[in-house]
Amino acid sequence: MVTNIISFVLDTTVFIRLDFPRILELSVSTFYTTNSVILELKDFRSRSNRDILIQINKLVIEEPNPIYFKEVIAKIRHFDPVTSLSRTDIDVLTLAYQKKVAIITNDLNLQNIAANIGIPFFIVTGKRIKQKIRWKLRCLSCNKILSQADSLKCPLCGGNLKKIRTSINNELKRKSK
Ligand SMILES: [Zn+2]
Repeated sequence: MVTNIISFVLDTTVFIRLDFPRILELSVSTFYTTNSVILELKDFRSRSNRDILIQINKLVIEEPNPIYFKEVIAKIRHFDPVTSLSRTDIDVLTLAYQKKVAIITNDLNLQNIAANIGIPFFIVTGKRIKQKIRWKLRCLSCNKILSQADSLKCPLCGGNLKKIRTSINNELKRKSK
C-alpha cells in the first residue's frame, strides 16, 4: 500500500484522549474523520479538539464509500470472524483504506485489525500493540474450531462460540527493534 503520510484518519479515541497541541506538531495537511466519529464526540474536550481542527481548516469529515466498506468487512472477517469492532471503527478503517492513509488511534483492538489488514497506524499517546492477534472461534459444546462464522452460534451443533487467539506473529515486534 502506498501511504500518503501527510494525511491521517482520526478515530474517536484521539479526539477524546489527545492533547491536541501535540497532534498539531505533526506536519499534517489534512485530518480526515467520519460522521460516525463526530457523532460520538460528546464531552467538552473532544468537542473542543474537533473545533480546533475545524478552525484551522484541517478537518475533513467524509463518509466512507460503501463498496470499500464491504471490502474492508470481508478482510476483517479473515482475522476476526465475529468482530467486536463498532460500525464507527469500521468506518474509520474504510476511510483510511480508500484514501491510502494511516490511522491515528489509541484503540488496541482497532490497531490490531489495521495491522492485520495492512492499514498503517500511529499512536500519539497511549499504548501500541506489540503483536498481531488473529481471532478464531471455538465451540463450547462440540469443541470445533472455526475461522469463519456468521454469529456466535456454532453452525454444526448450535452451541455457543467463544473467541480465541489462535495465531500471534512477531512481525511488529521485529520491525520496531
Ligand atoms: Zn458446536
